[in-house]
Amino acid sequence: MILTRFSGISLLIILFFIYIGTGVSEAQVKIERLEPPCWWTGMSDPSLQLLVYGKGISSTTPSVQYPGVLLDSVVRTGNPDYLFLYLSISPNTAAGKLEILFAAPQKGKKKPPVIHHPFELKSRETGSAQRQGFTSSDVIYMLMPDRFANGDPANDSVGGMLEKANRSNPDGRHGGDIRGIRNHIGYFRETGITALWINPLLENNMHAYSYHGYAATDFYSIDPRFGTLDEYLSLSDELRKNGIGLIADMVFNHCGLNHWWMNNLPTSTWIHQWPEFTRSNYRAESLMDPYAAASDQKEMLEGWFDRGMPDLNQQDPLLATYLIQNSIWWIETAGLTGIRMDTWPYVDAGFTEKWIDRIREEYPKFSVLGETWLQKEAHTSWFQQNPATRFNSGSNLTFLTDFPLSYAINRAFRDEDSWTGGLYDLYYVLSQDFLYANPKHLMTFVDNHDVQRFYSNQGDNYNLWDLGMTFLFTTRGIPVIYYGTEILMEGEKSKGDADLRKDFPGGWADDTVSVLLGRGFSADQMKALNRFRQLVKLRTEGIYHQGDLVHFVPRDGVYVYGWSHYYENLLVILNKNSSETLFDPERFRELTGGKTLGIEYFTQEVYSLDKPFVIPPQKPLVLYLK
Ligand code: CA
Repeated sequence: MILTRFSGISLLIILFFIYIGTGVSEAQVKIERLEPPCWWTGMSDPSLQLLVYGKGISSTTPSVQYPGVLLDSVVRTGNPDYLFLYLSISPNTAAGKLEILFAAPQKGKKKPPVIHHPFELKSRETGSAQRQGFTSSDVIYMLMPDRFANGDPANDSVGGMLEKANRSNPDGRHGGDIRGIRNHIGYFRETGITALWINPLLENNMHAYSYHGYAATDFYSIDPRFGTLDEYLSLSDELRKNGIGLIADMVFNHCGLNHWWMNNLPTSTWIHQWPEFTRSNYRAESLMDPYAAASDQKEMLEGWFDRGMPDLNQQDPLLATYLIQNSIWWIETAGLTGIRMDTWPYVDAGFTEKWIDRIREEYPKFSVLGETWLQKEAHTSWFQQNPATRFNSGSNLTFLTDFPLSYAINRAFRDEDSWTGGLYDLYYVLSQDFLYANPKHLMTFVDNHDVQRFYSNQGDNYNLWDLGMTFLFTTRGIPVIYYGTEILMEGEKSKGDADLRKDFPGGWADDTVSVLLGRGFSADQMKALNRFRQLVKLRTEGIYHQGDLVHFVPRDGVYVYGWSHYYENLLVILNKNSSETLFDPERFRELTGGKTLGIEYFTQEVYSLDKPFVIPPQKPLVLYLK
């Protein structure tokens, strides 16, 4: 009846708007993200969770039609813009491309619009599940990608990424990238290292301090300022061809404040929220402290790591599965041999246990290193999986960072000896190895991206550097070398973290000093680099990861220890005295046994073990016994 009042043209206009209107409501439901972006057939666990994000997506009805793939269930979280789908992929499903359909709600008799979203099920690379992780026979080199080498100046600043490159700002982005790392593969091979740990490469679209990579804004994207996913995959391939494993640095404790989901969280429990900003108290000791106040533990686990780093709540089961699948996705996609997980103690132990179990279910020989930054041995040991004792976190972690030993190495040669100081510091730390289920699985280091550079800590003294490095490569554990330590790079913690993360010389085209070209080095730097190569060789050829270690109480500025494995044994003598010292082998008979000659590894000098001999000042000797 009302229509009669409109002319024919008016009616056409109204019909037009009805048509447009329908079009708008169809277009309103749009998939912005579906994660993980692809998956594989033949995984040990047939289930797959898909996070689907898009305006109004929860009002749609999803379906999948592909032989072998079943849509088990759909979870709606209360946020209209998210859907979680659970697929079941039966073991013999063929790899291929499928479509996931999202049907808009039925309105009237018209067929509802349907969104078709492509999804790929790939076939796994042969041997993928049986990949070998790093072991205690490895030597690991760790680098910060923004600060290592700039292989592609064209990607230094990228449209859409907030922070632009500015090499004159110590806290800014300097332009280092994946191609720059790839350009150094020959360098890595010459040093003899067996695995490369690269600080996080994921997108960090933060306004400032984005170079370090620990505030991810997308768990599935390589930061375009580091390069492309393809470049990362070819780096991984090239490394593998050169016998070097790839360890990815991951963070599950927190994300970046600019993470895409922060404006519209999938669930109300996705992150830990506080009435006002609350920082973690960083007191990981509260986790195992028998007297700890519950509020301290809560602040430790649920406080934010920093203002720009919201604390993820891994007890949210949807997030937990999201994170577990994210790791598996990267292992499978990038051919990883290991993961280094940041801020391990800050993450819910129930989650980390599940996470490791799932990874081991898919990759039984894969290796995970947890960053356990604690001051004391007992607190650190609590994080290592130890079936023999109830005194552990239960998080099934195998490989840990050995901060207590690192602190001791930094003090041992520089400081005067005292009852517990100087060389005794090393002795005290190692004597507590009974706490660990496996001390050979500790990652040992003299410095890293968060602490003062070792060379600076030794007062720029090459001899002390040499003593510390020789100890590192001849004691138990898995040595990790931070880029630049091999060429005596300096860095003071008091000047801020940027001072510890300076550009690797020669990584930039206009650098006057270049490691790759051997240009502009001081005599000490040349000596250090050669020594480093020898140490890696000694380590990878030696018995340090299989043999038995015996050490003697340090005496008169000399620390002696040795390794034996079947018929092979060797003696390490670290002399910190600044003058020549008379060394009597008599005290060390239990280690030297009937052997009468020691051949020094670096100089090939021969020492007779049946009488005292003079050892040079501030020098290590590594004697292979005959
Ligand atoms: Ca670049």
